[in-house]
Amino acid sequence: MESKKRKISIIGSTGSIGTQALEVLEKLEDKFEIIALAGGSNVELLKQQAEKFKPKYVCVGKNGAEKINISGAQVLYGPQGLDEICSNKENDIILVAVSGKIGLRPTLKAIENGIDIALANKETLVMAGDIVMKKAKDAGVKIVPVDSEHCAIHQCIKDINQVEKLIITASGGPFLHKTIDDMKNATVEETLKHPRWNMGRKITVDSATLMNKGLEVIEAHHLFNMDYDDIKVVVHPQSIVHSAIEYKDGSVIAQLGVPSMHIPIQYAISYPERFEGIKSKSFSFSEIARLDFEKPDFEKFPFLKLAYKAGKIGGSATVCLNAANEEAVFAFLRGEIKLFDIYEITSQVFNSHNVVKNPDIDEIFEIDEQIREQTKALINTKFC
Ligand code: MG
Repeated sequence: MESKKRKISIIGSTGSIGTQALEVLEKLEDKFEIIALAGGSNVELLKQQAEKFKPKYVCVGKNGAEKINISGAQVLYGPQGLDEICSNKENDIILVAVSGKIGLRPTLKAIENGIDIALANKETLVMAGDIVMKKAKDAGVKIVPVDSEHCAIHQCIKDINQVEKLIITASGGPFLHKTIDDMKNATVEETLKHPRWNMGRKITVDSATLMNKGLEVIEAHHLFNMDYDDIKVVVHPQSIVHSAIEYKDGSVIAQLGVPSMHIPIQYAISYPERFEGIKSKSFSFSEIARLDFEKPDFEKFPFLKLAYKAGKIGGSATVCLNAANEEAVFAFLRGEIKLFDIYEITSQVFNSHNVVKNPDIDEIFEIDEQIREQTKALINTKFC
């Protein structure tokens, strides 16, 4: 008997995770049927993807002022189009692969409609983790993380109640063994040279400052319902151990593999099954030879401390942290500020923020907007 194909839609198919997901799906065409692809501003790539993968629906990020024709597919536009895709109960699973706050609404829509989610969007949990996880639990929706560390932890956990702590690994980024002065003078190009992972520009800058790891601590807190004090970060430059958990009896279980996003993407969309799919390189302990671990340097990477602080405060504190950092990272990528200014700016905005305890989704978006304006103003007056 032929097994039923799993029906999937990808929100953010033209980004780094989205394109790698399509590479996985190309190998698994007998296991999956693509219902919809949604892309942002790269309409050309979206068209090519649609011609190759023949989804029923294509959603173009632009508002629809310029109509687009894709043969065989119904073309949808903007946030309304995303809503339509995420409300389509034909989907068994939706991969949310956009980066930034744009991932939050589609995630909530999918949850409302009882559709399982492969989540590659950190901001969804950093901005609204309490709301999203509660709604998912109430609706019986599975959220399987694509982020490699969380995907690793997901693979290690059998019973969360028996877990004592989570151990999140960090590659340390391109400045791990550089001095603070090297970092102060780092160019955009040096910052974007990540030693292990191939990712989008914003997340690569966050990996260089370890803000990415800070956001991942917050993400882990929500996904696995763990106290911040029980979430540890360890620097592991080889990126072979993708993360680990320690059980109450002292047993440590880690997930290992070559650093490739294909594996966590495939795990998240296939869960609870496992398929052969893409195996870019097979794993060999003898070739790896050694694995190093060290404590993170909180002085050199102050973002990590700030993220723990924001997470423990909760409420809108993590919304503020995320929005201020993102605007500062964009300014850095535009060449307007230096790498270390990202922290200066983010911490200034963070320290002046009046925390709202249990913001609802509308308040979260309002606070996000307001923090972005405040951050841009600070950059313009003090740093440009
Ligand atoms: Mg990660």
